[in-house]
Amino acid sequence: MGSFEVIAKHGEHEQVVFCNNKDVGLKAIIAIHNTALGPALGGTRMGNYKTEDEALIDVLRLSKGMSYKASAAGLNLGGGKAVIIGDPKTQKTEALFRAFGRFVNSLNGRYITAEDVGTTVREMEYVFMETPWVTGIPKTFGGSGDPSPYTAHGVLMGIKASVKEKFGADSLKGIRVAVQGLGNVGYHLVEYLAKEQAVVTVTDIDQERVKKACAQFGFKAVSTDEIVSVDCDVFSPCALGAVINDQSIRQIKAKVVCGGANNQLAEARHGDMLNEMGILYAPDYVTNAGGLMNVFVELEGYSPDRALDKTVEVYNNLMNVFAIAKRDRVGTHTAADRMAEERIAVIGKLKQTHQGFSSRPFSTLREVKNR
Ligand code: NAD
Repeated sequence: MGSFEVIAKHGEHEQVVFCNNKDVGLKAIIAIHNTALGPALGGTRMGNYKTEDEALIDVLRLSKGMSYKASAAGLNLGGGKAVIIGDPKTQKTEALFRAFGRFVNSLNGRYITAEDVGTTVREMEYVFMETPWVTGIPKTFGGSGDPSPYTAHGVLMGIKASVKEKFGADSLKGIRVAVQGLGNVGYHLVEYLAKEQAVVTVTDIDQERVKKACAQFGFKAVSTDEIVSVDCDVFSPCALGAVINDQSIRQIKAKVVCGGANNQLAEARHGDMLNEMGILYAPDYVTNAGGLMNVFVELEGYSPDRALDKTVEVYNNLMNVFAIAKRDRVGTHTAADRMAEERIAVIGKLKQTHQGFSSRPFSTLREVKNR
């Protein structure tokens, strides 16, 4: 299949850039899915792709996902992503990431990058040496630092919206929540849930984290196999993708699924199945958009308070998804896609897609860069 056919099959992207620098061993692909709402933002993954087609399909899929996520979050951002083909354990060099940064810079703000799987803040510092179009850099450079507390706060808002929708409750007091995963997002989430006086059950493969959470908040713990079937009101996946699958779906006792993990549905049909079972699913990319909101605030000139305020919008975004699901009689996963597509279509018509975003008020990075 030719490259344009692959692009047509995976989302009709605006632009796909192949970055090649033999001297430093760089082979990367930047995919810009859609810039109707604003510059395309999405992280750079580094991985051992078996074939170039595998890398291309991955970057096309991920960048399209970012368009939907930004749109559903109400942000003026488009969707983009980059992949670097190589082993993150052995092939990371300053020269490689600076060469990559020069390619990002050549797009003049049409694409803004960030760290992702296989890359860290350290490499983004190298990218930042060559371009201001990078986010998630350290606080000392005007960046926003770790996004996970903001992601977790957004998930808390998602749980509040879902509990309101499903049970008509305005408070989480006494609501039973089973949290899968106590990592960066999960641990911050359970701290918030403890403050809300929710009744929390936790699990993690890392027993130290489980012990710490139970000792700190008096939570109950179960094994990793049991968490899906805990008798509770809300199941909150905050660890892995594809947790809602053919095996797990029949075990769910919760009436709400709402968590921070990416790609919770193994397949779209599992969203339909949840809908048929009367379980309210808060679509993952709408629920976990707090981290992206935090990065967006970084682009405008970072303020932690404004970032936290922004994550409150997850509540209304999900309420809109639930309303569309009822309006169109579809599952919430389908409704979320419709909401994202509608906003891209309507707002995109107002703002003509254009080739450069250099006039946008993304002040902080530029000021720091020009010092
Ligand atoms: P993390 O690696 O810090 O935490 C994941 C936790 O899950 C770890 O504590 C790990 O031990 C645990 N875990 C792994 N396998 C498990 C299993 N089978 N059962 C129970 N626990 C298990 O990652 P994170 O940053 O907290 O992200 C969690 C999820 O949220 C991921 O899917 C990530 O893509 C998604 N996400 C994170 C952010 C963010 O801001 N960090 C933003 C959006 C989405």
